[in-house]
Amino acid sequence: MAHMDVIVLGGGTMGLAAAWELAKRGKRALVLEQFALVHDRGAHSGHTRIFRHAYAEGADYIPLVLRADHLWQDLEAQTRTKVLHRVGGLDMAAPGYGHARRARESATQHHLDFQWLTPADVRRTWPMIHIPDDWEAGFGAGAGFLDVEPALRALIQCAQHGGVELLAQTPATAWGASAHGVWVSAGGQRYEAEALIVTAGAWAGRMLQQLGLPLTIQRKVLWWFAVENPALYTPERFPVFITDSACGEIYGFPMYQDPGIKIANHAGGDTTDPDHVNRTVRDDEKQDVVSLTPWFFEGVTSHVLRSQTCLYARTPDGHFILDRHPEWPQVIIGAGFSGHGFKFTPAIGEHLVSLALDSTVQSHRLFRLDRLTR
Ligand SMILES: Cc1cc2nc3c(=O)[nH]c(=O)nc-3n(C[C@H](O)[C@H](O)[C@H](O)COP(=O)(O)OP(=O)(O)OC[C@H]3O[C@@H](n4cnc5c(N)ncnc54)[C@H](O)[C@@H]3O)c2cc1C
Repeated sequence: MAHMDVIVLGGGTMGLAAAWELAKRGKRALVLEQFALVHDRGAHSGHTRIFRHAYAEGADYIPLVLRADHLWQDLEAQTRTKVLHRVGGLDMAAPGYGHARRARESATQHHLDFQWLTPADVRRTWPMIHIPDDWEAGFGAGAGFLDVEPALRALIQCAQHGGVELLAQTPATAWGASAHGVWVSAGGQRYEAEALIVTAGAWAGRMLQQLGLPLTIQRKVLWWFAVENPALYTPERFPVFITDSACGEIYGFPMYQDPGIKIANHAGGDTTDPDHVNRTVRDDEKQDVVSLTPWFFEGVTSHVLRSQTCLYARTPDGHFILDRHPEWPQVIIGAGFSGHGFKFTPAIGEHLVSLALDSTVQSHRLFRLDRLTR
């Protein structure tokens, strides 16, 4: 195989976004993926992901999400694929819980449209939501959800169209770097390039073992619950939502393609080994979610129609790692997306490629590796 400009190790969410960016820049690039392109064993299973601009996790994410918004629209236009469904997004918090307020603060800093609502306003607009009078709420009209599989397939299409080679079922077993470049062993072959981007998701710690990345791999469960009146929960009538309360950070989506309404808890989750995940879901695991949903949402039952596991790779502070390897600057790390990375995908791909190709580009301090290893 020809010497490459860049090898991407891990062709999941962020690796495919990097592939699209490499294609745009006309680079000779190779993506190595251990499973199929688009699968349910990493971080992108479960069909949909929340997209929102007002960002409780930190106002510093907002430029990145605005860039991602623009790039998702480009991807939609280039592939004629609907990816982003702007159904609006509600942030709701019980007394003493700060998610909604922090989202509002971030929106204020960046002059974003984020409507602060009274619980009565919420109940008037969405009568199926029984938000108590002492809760706080904010609404972002430009928020909504991303349809994961079409989004990733669109990235694949654009990457391949631009000449990037994507090798599925090709696990990378080792890599190394020298003053002359990088090499990767995968599927019995040795590949060489100028630079390497490691986007290995839950396996990042293993592929970067010498760095001792402080990543916790968590098994998360997504639930689809039966609803008594599905007409109330269509994307035309019901937004994506996040609630912050003693029950956890329970979030969910309107009914879309699958029967039932998809709901999950961002908080908690058992630590797991990504190669030995227990994919069997017990009914009693839904306890945290159903402590909220049946009383909070009209006619949402505790009857599970479907469930699915998915993996978080959490950093101790919940912020991403987007940085150069401390020893080998031509090795770029995109990891630790801590359960909230999908909305940023194309902007992260763009940034990882900039780090790989331009030595003057630096990451925002929030995403630097040395904040975790110092
Ligand atoms: C339940 C759940 C709900 C979520 N909800 C949201 C949400 O609402 N909004 C949001 O913005 N984000 C959300 N996220 C987070 C988002 O989905 C992730 O941050 C994102 O998918 C992480 O992408 P990744 O590329 O790191 O991981 P992945 O998509 O898993 O990609 C990593 C890839 O690397 C491959 N790989 C690993 N090791 C090797 C190797 N040695 N050789 C070759 N290939 C390898 C893996 O097979 C995998 O395909 C959610 C995540 C989960 C699990």
